[in-house]
Amino acid sequence: MKSYQIDTNGYYGEFGGAYIPEILYQTVENLRKEYLPILESQSFQTEYHALLKDYVGRPSPLYYAQRLSQKYGCRIYLKREDLNHTGAHKINNAIGQILLARRMGKTRIIAETGAGQHGVAVATVCALMNMPCRVYMGATDVQRQHMNVERMRMLGAEVFPVESGNRTLKDATNEAIRDWCCHPADTFYIIGSTVGPHPYPDLVARLQSVISREIKEQLLAHEGRDYPDCLIACVGGGSNAAGTIYHYIDDERVRIFLGEAGGHGIETAETAATIQCGSTGIIHGARTLVMQDADGQIIEPYSLSAGLDYPGIGPLHAHLARMHRATVMAVNDDEALRAAFELTRLEGIIPALESAHALGLLTKIKFRADEVVVLTVSGRGDKDLETYLAHSSRFNTPIF
Ligand SMILES: *Cc1c(COP(=O)(O)O)cnc(C)c1O
Repeated sequence: MKSYQIDTNGYYGEFGGAYIPEILYQTVENLRKEYLPILESQSFQTEYHALLKDYVGRPSPLYYAQRLSQKYGCRIYLKREDLNHTGAHKINNAIGQILLARRMGKTRIIAETGAGQHGVAVATVCALMNMPCRVYMGATDVQRQHMNVERMRMLGAEVFPVESGNRTLKDATNEAIRDWCCHPADTFYIIGSTVGPHPYPDLVARLQSVISREIKEQLLAHEGRDYPDCLIACVGGGSNAAGTIYHYIDDERVRIFLGEAGGHGIETAETAATIQCGSTGIIHGARTLVMQDADGQIIEPYSLSAGLDYPGIGPLHAHLARMHRATVMAVNDDEALRAAFELTRLEGIIPALESAHALGLLTKIKFRADEVVVLTVSGRGDKDLETYLAHSSRFNTPIF
């Protein structure tokens, strides 16, 4: 049977692999050898699932959104990752990786963060596990995302502002890798999405796969069958989408739709739609689609949503798009904003701006009336309130 999962060499088709400096070879090799035996061990599974249940609050509800369904003429369920502790799906991955780090004997944690959401999730689990934590963050982002910086510091993490380059996520990642090169023996690098060198994309996808495992059980209870007709998720690096589709990737009865950040439009220079606008290259240790110029220099992506403006994309998603297993569409800033206000007024749920890019796909897909759709709400919108406020005169209109 054809499989879209990772192959034994760490590739999804032509994408993936581990393109790393020589000095990290042994560290990454150790991780590659150890991650599956540890993840599959009884002791890991017991501790991971106990924390997901009692600390994160899982299983997250699968909510039948009646008014949204009426509007789009199908049966829409929302997978409520916004209800997790710290407000998004990122905690699922952070908990799993810190448990792995401890079992590998690591004593220090580093991470990169853009908007600060992954940094907060890592700082949270480091407080929980009493481990020292340094989070690399571009100096521009430190200014823009002040509240998350304060949250990380309150949690006991050291936030390290990166002054090189454009002082954003790409520069923070380079600095984190530099740190890792200097301390490979004792330091574990917790990567926040299905990106980076093999085995990270597979590791993160497995840790997020709890999302689709729950969807299977919950759909069976609601609908009498354990698969939907359609899955919808937003993609930045790809982790909430990977978790949403994980157990359905090879089930071709299930249509997969991914929303990437169009920014001001894919025909403009201000976009983060990597799958549609990128070309094959190497970023953060993996071969994937990258926003780059003719000289291979990274082009700074743009999206109103801070969690989606990543210049690469997970190798799994590049492969799914290339093979036409997933339909990838860009959702522009205005389309996401409209969708966020619509969900708020129809269902009383304020979504994260990232998640609004999944909701923005609803107008772009043709549904049959009886079709069962599961859409992942990756996070809650509290952090985006200022952005919503700035645009509310255009979008906050009653829906009757
Ligand atoms: C970080 C983030 C994303 C994007 O990351 P993925 O790895 O693509 O899931 C999406 N939604 C929310 C709420 C986030 O915080």
